[in-house]
Amino acid sequence: MNKLLIRGATILTMEGPDAIIDTGEILIEDGWITHVGLPGSASGSFDMDEVIEADGQVAMPGFINCHTHAAMTLLRGYADDLPLMKWLSEKIWPFEGRMTGEDIYWGTMLACLEMIKSGTTCFGDMYDHMHDVARAVENTGMRAMLSRGMIGVLPTGEKALADAEELAKNWNGKADGRITVMLGPHAPYTCPPEYLDKVMNLAAKFKLGINIHVAETLAEVEEIKKQYGKTPVQHLDSLGLFKFPVLAAHCVHLDEQDMEILAQKAMGIAYNPQSNMKLASGIAPVARLLELGATVGIGTDGTASNNNLDMLEELRTGSYLQKVSTMNPEVIPAYRALQMATIDGALCMGLGDRVGLIKEGMRADIILIDTTEPHMCPRHNLVANIAYAANASDVRTVIIDGKVVMLDRVVLTIDEERVMYEVRERAERLAGK
Ligand SMILES: [Zn+2]
Repeated sequence: MNKLLIRGATILTMEGPDAIIDTGEILIEDGWITHVGLPGSASGSFDMDEVIEADGQVAMPGFINCHTHAAMTLLRGYADDLPLMKWLSEKIWPFEGRMTGEDIYWGTMLACLEMIKSGTTCFGDMYDHMHDVARAVENTGMRAMLSRGMIGVLPTGEKALADAEELAKNWNGKADGRITVMLGPHAPYTCPPEYLDKVMNLAAKFKLGINIHVAETLAEVEEIKKQYGKTPVQHLDSLGLFKFPVLAAHCVHLDEQDMEILAQKAMGIAYNPQSNMKLASGIAPVARLLELGATVGIGTDGTASNNNLDMLEELRTGSYLQKVSTMNPEVIPAYRALQMATIDGALCMGLGDRVGLIKEGMRADIILIDTTEPHMCPRHNLVANIAYAANASDVRTVIIDGKVVMLDRVVLTIDEERVMYEVRERAERLAGK
């Protein structure tokens, strides 16, 4: 049995706003959190394989990015400040059309490197060549929910379904259980009802959830209303999609009935504030969704529309955007924002029984954040300091599934220089330089 002890840290368990242990210790055995408590309380703490001294640091659950397209790091800064359809059709899609599985592997490696260095331990992905994405997840030690993006209106729609089935067969539950699989029909406007039927058949056959973009832009809502006489959410509901566990990304343009459907029937909603702001898509009505009882996690979306994978930045923007759009400073307070970026993100991806909290019986996905820098001083409120003042670079150490993947800012599972070299070379080729 492998035993790892973290001691000296202030523990923000995320089991409640006051569930904070000052100078506590966390015992991890074979990847499981087996004890959380005061110093010296871990039984048998004398025969550890590894001890991390974490004085001056906060231990909290790793961030969970519940919506991204990791390999899009290759496109970071390639096309910005354009309208969505022009951005997609003239820049993003042609570039993506040139990408190989190897390109996607290295793009995902860079994303994992960036995520680990900013405290993200788990992410939800939708892309192509998912076997290569899965290899990157396996090699970096990250946790991920993977879905093959499927566009029913393209000639490749049938192949995408076959790929999704392969992904489920080959990777669901693999990498020591760190990889889970969902199905990824891209959106209601790219996947007609007959295609979504096939997706639902596959979901039933393999007991999989469904990860889909919904109501991202006004143009989408108008298009779906014109075609089917319903909003995107009500259209999907009438097709029976919500009989499955659904993670709905964006959900920017909703009416009250849409919000009730999502609150009652969706497994979760991925809120992507920065991407929605940058593409001028709009502001998701998250404060209202939360009032109705919806489960909302936070996603960065891909780095072509963000342009980074920094969850601290994202949760802060997500909170502030709700405050200013509702003219109410009380919505999404600091603790709520951290919840959305941890346990609620886990619930959105069907992982709430294993990660998102520092609690006995959970897998150990834990980050240590330095609190000794000037911008973290004084400590009137630890939760506010983390949600509103911390930087990605304050994350010192990252543990995923009980394994130390970054120790004191050194990533142990990835050759950083090699990854950045590969991505620079490949990005140049793909851009046609
Ligand atoms: Zn997306």
